[in-house]
Amino acid sequence: MSLHKKASKKSESFFKSVEKSFDKAAKFLDINQGILDAIKSCNSVYRLRFPVKFGKEVKVIEAYRVQHSHHKFPCKGGIRYSTAVNQDEVMALAALMTYKCAIVNVPFGGAKGGVKIDPQTLSAEELEKITRRYTSELLKKNFIGPGMDVPAPDYGTGEREMSWIVDTYTSLRSGGEVDAMACVTGKPVSQGGVRGRTEATGLGVFYGVRELCQSSEEMKKVGFSTGLKGKRIVIQGLGNVGYHAAKFFYEAGAKLIALAEREGGIYNELGLNPDEVKKHIKKNKSILNFPGAKDIPDSSKALELECDILIPAALEGVIHKKNAECIKAKIVGEAANGPITADADETLNKKGIIIIPDIYLNAGGVTVSYFEWLKNLSHVRYGRLEKRFSENVNTEILQALEHLIGKNISEEERKNILRGPDEIDLVRSGLEDTMISAFHEIREIQKEKQICDMRTAAFVLAIKKIADSYERLGIFP
Ligand code: NAD
Repeated sequence: MSLHKKASKKSESFFKSVEKSFDKAAKFLDINQGILDAIKSCNSVYRLRFPVKFGKEVKVIEAYRVQHSHHKFPCKGGIRYSTAVNQDEVMALAALMTYKCAIVNVPFGGAKGGVKIDPQTLSAEELEKITRRYTSELLKKNFIGPGMDVPAPDYGTGEREMSWIVDTYTSLRSGGEVDAMACVTGKPVSQGGVRGRTEATGLGVFYGVRELCQSSEEMKKVGFSTGLKGKRIVIQGLGNVGYHAAKFFYEAGAKLIALAEREGGIYNELGLNPDEVKKHIKKNKSILNFPGAKDIPDSSKALELECDILIPAALEGVIHKKNAECIKAKIVGEAANGPITADADETLNKKGIIIIPDIYLNAGGVTVSYFEWLKNLSHVRYGRLEKRFSENVNTEILQALEHLIGKNISEEERKNILRGPDEIDLVRSGLEDTMISAFHEIREIQKEKQICDMRTAAFVLAIKKIADSYERLGIFP
């Protein structure tokens, strides 16, 4: 049975699960109940049904766009293509976006889109038709636009879909809207995207886990030494987020002992190279039978392996009431949105497992989307104005130093010191700084209020910031 079916069969509502975490956190704050209710509720839910013609056949497509919060504009959130899409799921994901943006200081309200289709069974032409029609439907109701609501990629979508969206939006907007490019993020660089967006969520996951592993206080709790080197990691889902996270963990010297995809997983105690595994999947259309690794026929069993760090990076609800007791990892990093249900969360906390919550850990995507949006509004590539200036200043400093010490440095060192920043350098350092600062903001609140788990502390931080925004804005009469 696919994860989609398993996830949709779960009785627990995903949105209720998010609300439970919210309520748990709200108890640590002295905030007016009316304001709390305003933060928690979904402001606008747009449920669409539109026909698309494939040859002679007409199919009705079910889709959604939810704007969870309007305390800041535009709203921001990815678009998901999956057969498991439903209103409850899109509402929950939109709510998570609101809290996520607050945690990483991205000035957006939360939103999410979902189209109930299986992209794997549709041709590129069919997907293009659906994407363009969905975009025009959103535009009709003002649910897309640079200052209104800005989608991005999510499960089942990527750069290609974002390109179709920007093209549809710009061609439907007559009058040459100057900021039209900013109507969607996650675009290819040639279409107004920013360097570093593709890998941003996975890289953010890496920075977040690395930060936790650098804390001797946290590592003591789980009996580990500090650092990522040699830590045994299991990753579920080798898509955009999972693959890039895997790549950065591998490069940092961690050991990827198991990787799982829909059809099953593979295990090698000595470690797996994610690029080799990706090549193998491309060639064989399956992760199974990877040379030197043992097959795990049931993908969900990979979650229960003995390991140090578990990274669920596929879909929500994969760690639930029934398998929570079987989780053996000491740290779970939620790369996917909502991979742990509220019941399972309690069980894992009781077991002393450290959970790095989704509303913080996978915020790298929206952070770099924010950089892309800013780039589109300013109409200039990051680094274009300052690169040469920095290089000239560095040259002067270096020449003065060489003169002072009476010695010239090597050509290699010279190249590294003189180099001015490119777009990718600025984006990555902005992302790294955001993930590190947010981690410490959460930890400070956790200590100050003596909160046991990081999820509750992250929610407390988000609610505090949004409530402050509401209180300062006042409520529109
Ligand atoms: P994706 O479509 O690129 O990849 C998902 C991967 O999961 C695919 O390779 C798919 O085959 C695999 N998968 C599906 N069912 C599985 C199963 N049963 N076991 C193992 N693997 C399975 O999607 P993505 O963009 O990487 O998103 C993954 C998660 O991360 C989602 O929860 C999404 O909401 C979240 N997320 C994504 C972004 C982003 O920037 N793309 C940002 C924040 C959060």
